[in-house]
Amino acid sequence: MSAGPWWQAGQRLAILSALVDEQRGLIDHLEQPERVEHAGRIFWLGRLHGLAVVLTVSRIGKVSAAMTAATLIERFDAGAIVFTGVAGALADQVQVGDVVVAQDFLQHDLDVSPLFPRYEVPAYGRARFVCHEDLSAALRQAAQQALAGEFAQASVHQGLIVSGDRFVSGAGEVGALRQRLQQAGHAALAVEMEGAAVAQVCADHGLPYAAMRTVSDRADDSAHRDFAEFVSQVASRYAQAIVSRLLIGLGDPARHRR
Ligand code: SAH
Repeated sequence: MSAGPWWQAGQRLAILSALVDEQRGLIDHLEQPERVEHAGRIFWLGRLHGLAVVLTVSRIGKVSAAMTAATLIERFDAGAIVFTGVAGALADQVQVGDVVVAQDFLQHDLDVSPLFPRYEVPAYGRARFVCHEDLSAALRQAAQQALAGEFAQASVHQGLIVSGDRFVSGAGEVGALRQRLQQAGHAALAVEMEGAAVAQVCADHGLPYAAMRTVSDRADDSAHRDFAEFVSQVASRYAQAIVSRLLIGLGDPARHRR
C-alpha cells in the first residue's frame, strides 16, 4: 500500500469485529495490552505486528455498530477502521466459506420513499457509501494471501454489501430482498447487519474504512444453523489470519516507500 495523506506511520488502526469469537485470537497476540471500559464496551489498545491498534466488538445491528465506530474515532483516535465479520450470501457466485471485501455499502432496510428514492440516505443524496480504495485493496490482497494455503478452496470477491437490522434467514425473504435490490439497480454480494452504519460514520469523519465478511450462510432457511458452527470453526480463524497479513503489509516500511 502506498503511503498517502490518509495513512501516517504511528496512526492507530481500529479493528472492529462483529462477534467476540472473531476477536479472541487477535487479543491474545496484542503487545502492551491495555483494557479500557467505556460506555459498556471493552476496548483493547496495544500493538500488533508493530502497529498501534485498538480492538473492539461492534455488537449486532446498525445502532450498536455506529455507536462503536463513533467512539473509536472520537475517543480512541482511530486513524482508519477495518471491520471483520460474517455475512449471508446474496449473489449466486458467492459460496459459504468465501470472503467478500466490501467495495461499498447500502442499508437495505432504509426506505424514505416516496420522499426520497428507496435506500437513499436523506441529507447525503446517495444510497451507497464507498469504502477506501487503497485500504480495501490491501485488505483484499491480505485475504487472498491468507487463504492461499490452508483455505485455498475459498474465493475472495469484492463488491456491494448490504446491511439491515434483521438476520435474513428464509428462502422467501432472501429472494424478495434480492429482487428489491436488483429492481433498484443494486447487485449485492452479501447481507449483514453492521457494515453500512460504520461506512456512514466514517464518511462523516472522512476516515478510511475497509471491511471483509466471511460468508457463513446463504440467508435461507438453514442460515441460523450454519451460522453458529461456522463462526467458531472457520470465520474466527480467517479473520485472524487476514488481519495479521494486513497489519504486516501496512507496517512494512519497504512498502510505504513505493
Ligand atoms: N448468534 C449470534 C447472533 C448473530 S446475528 C449471537 O448470539 O451473538 C448475525 C451476525 O452475523 C450479525 O453480526 C450479522 O452482521 C452477520 N450475519 C451473518 N449472516 C447473516 C444473515 N443471513 N443476515 C444478516 N446478518 C448476518
